[in-house]
Amino acid sequence: MNGKAYIFDIKRNASEDGPGIRTTVFFKGCPLSCSWCQNPEGIAAGPSLSFRAELCHPEDCGLPCFKACNAKAISLADRSLRLDWERCDRCGRCAAVCSNHALEQVGQWLSVDELFYRVAIDKPFFDATGGGVTASGGECTMQMNFLHEFFKKLKAAGIRTAIETNGMFNFGRFARLLLPWLDLIYFDLKLIDEAASIRHTGHSNRAILDNLLRLNECAAVPVKVRIPLIPGITATDENLRGIAKFLREHRIKQVSALPYNPLWLDKLQRFGIDTEYRCGAFMSDAELERCIDSLQAC
Ligand code: SF4
Ligand code: SF4
Repeated sequence: MNGKAYIFDIKRNASEDGPGIRTTVFFKGCPLSCSWCQNPEGIAAGPSLSFRAELCHPEDCGLPCFKACNAKAISLADRSLRLDWERCDRCGRCAAVCSNHALEQVGQWLSVDELFYRVAIDKPFFDATGGGVTASGGECTMQMNFLHEFFKKLKAAGIRTAIETNGMFNFGRFARLLLPWLDLIYFDLKLIDEAASIRHTGHSNRAILDNLLRLNECAAVPVKVRIPLIPGITATDENLRGIAKFLREHRIKQVSALPYNPLWLDKLQRFGIDTEYRCGAFMSDAELERCIDSLQAC
């Protein structure tokens, strides 16, 4: 939609996405499809449908969602609502008539002014704590023109900006449209081996590594590399040593590792998303220590 961005969440009072108190804006759409994605509802560029079975009471409501669904994706079995995700085109007609909010369409179009108004309300907290606004996703750089205008407006208002990116962007556009208005960049580095990257994220990592090196050379602001530790995928000795070697060779020093968090698994059923990766346990201290050792060994 012209001049608007598609956004699936705005998290106020966020503390993990940069210094101080922050508001994190989650933009929809991502070019990667990581099998462990923490925000799987952010991968699709268009709307998502959320279904919370625990809020659904078909015996009370008269099933307006069933009547609203032209795609015949809704049915009743054993007195429970069944959603055929293959048939569902995420049109949102069912969500509009569900007064129990069991069905909800996730994502909304916002203009720069509308989004600015939502986040600028916390400027006194940003100022008092050194915080600001972080753009995340999905991959927020997919909506680059909008981000350019949004960051410009934030900086004009004296609000600090940060970005979380998976590194899959057009470098020329990033350098021209975003870099001048950024205070901080978090750059996700997942896999060092190209074949593993294709297998687990759906894409080669060549452009990602190249963009990191170019940013490291020319960015005037901190570029902080973050490595998500995913058991059996990124948290292997081989991958971590390979990443460490790459970073050392290119004198990249600002690195942190993010321990695996399995809470995203709850979202799979809610959003009708399927993935083979299903590790349901938090990382133990010993596992985390092993990962740090692998990184430090190089
Ligand atoms: S999803 Fe909403 S409208 Fe549909 S049966 Fe459940 S409570 Fe009723
Ligand atoms: S969002 Fe899906 S289930 Fe709901 S009315 Fe549209 S097609 Fe039917």
